[in-house]
Amino acid sequence: MTGMPILIIEDEKKLVDILKRALKTERYSVDVAYDGEEGLAKAMKNVYSMIILDILLPKKDGFTVCKELRAREIHTPIIMLTARGSTEDRVAGLDVGADDYLIKPFGITELLARIRAVLRRRRTTDSNVLKIADVVMDKKRHEVTRAGKVISLTPKEYKLLDVLLGSQGEALTRRKLLNHAWGPTFEETNNELNVHINYLRAKLGKGAKKHLIHTIRGVGFALKE
Ligand code: CA
Repeated sequence: MTGMPILIIEDEKKLVDILKRALKTERYSVDVAYDGEEGLAKAMKNVYSMIILDILLPKKDGFTVCKELRAREIHTPIIMLTARGSTEDRVAGLDVGADDYLIKPFGITELLARIRAVLRRRRTTDSNVLKIADVVMDKKRHEVTRAGKVISLTPKEYKLLDVLLGSQGEALTRRKLLNHAWGPTFEETNNELNVHINYLRAKLGKGAKKHLIHTIRGVGFALKE
């Protein structure tokens, strides 16, 4: 057991066996939980590089497990498995903080490719320094600069910029941004997200020619040059 540890939370024993075998061949080390409660407990107790999380589970469904982990600040990458292919399910999974999803039935090669992609994406976002254009976020120092000048951000603005920087070029849903900066149970009452995004834009935009935060109509926001 020396490979990167992956936790599979899935109650279909047959599928678990197939996944286990495939992941071990790829030199991952594998741990398994057969229901949502056991999965949540293991994910909180141990450190994994990745969690493969089924949605339909006994005791606690995958959405709840994912939501509770994120609420506890556990940011292990999660790939959700869904038997239902509805857009609603996929969006819901990403909204509660999953990194990616796969629709059953899926091929093992596809799963392996997704795992590699998520880990690759996470490696860049986990680094302590995030950049776009001349904006630099140094997480260790908790400092943001543009063109070398320090920009003072409120905690909310900092969190929003953090998640935007971590997914550059991607359209992030309003819910994902709210989850990150306010928490999964927060409901907007006064258009808080837009208000804080506008503060952030103003602070980042001071003296700059190009805006970095773009509104994606009907979805949310994206950070790109
Ligand atoms: Ca299941």
